[in-house]
Amino acid sequence: MNFVCPACKSDNVQRLSIVHQGGLSSTKTKSRGSGIVIGGDGVGLGLGSSKTRGTTQTVTSMRAAPPLKKRFLKPLALISLVFFLVSAPIALASDPVVQTAAGFVWIAAIVGWIAFALHYNMTKWPPQKAIWDNSCLCNRCDTIFYIGDV
Ligand SMILES: [Zn+2]
Repeated sequence: MNFVCPACKSDNVQRLSIVHQGGLSSTKTKSRGSGIVIGGDGVGLGLGSSKTRGTTQTVTSMRAAPPLKKRFLKPLALISLVFFLVSAPIALASDPVVQTAAGFVWIAAIVGWIAFALHYNMTKWPPQKAIWDNSCLCNRCDTIFYIGDV
């Protein structure tokens, strides 16, 4: 359960999921029991940094945020909006054939996004989430590192 930062060798590290949660609730509990490290530099620095961290915690929490799945509603609404803005002037001035073609482009864009998002959520997102699940943030030097399958 104890991991060491590959950059600075500190063991004052937290899983990204915990860092993220802590940032959301904006309460920082005691980061580490004392007495684990005797004569090390981990405890003092750890407690010090967690106190000063209060205001920047949201930023840290954002850095520790999990990878997001692609969404559907918002991008589709955006595609439709862009399409409307671009095609409205064209539609006024041009014949039905062009309008129909424009309609097909719009449908193709929507279908294309759905296909892309589904593909992304099913193939690209799971491994990213798995890596995130097993990644830690070093409280000392802010390095994010992967601890491997545990
Ligand atoms: Zn470190």
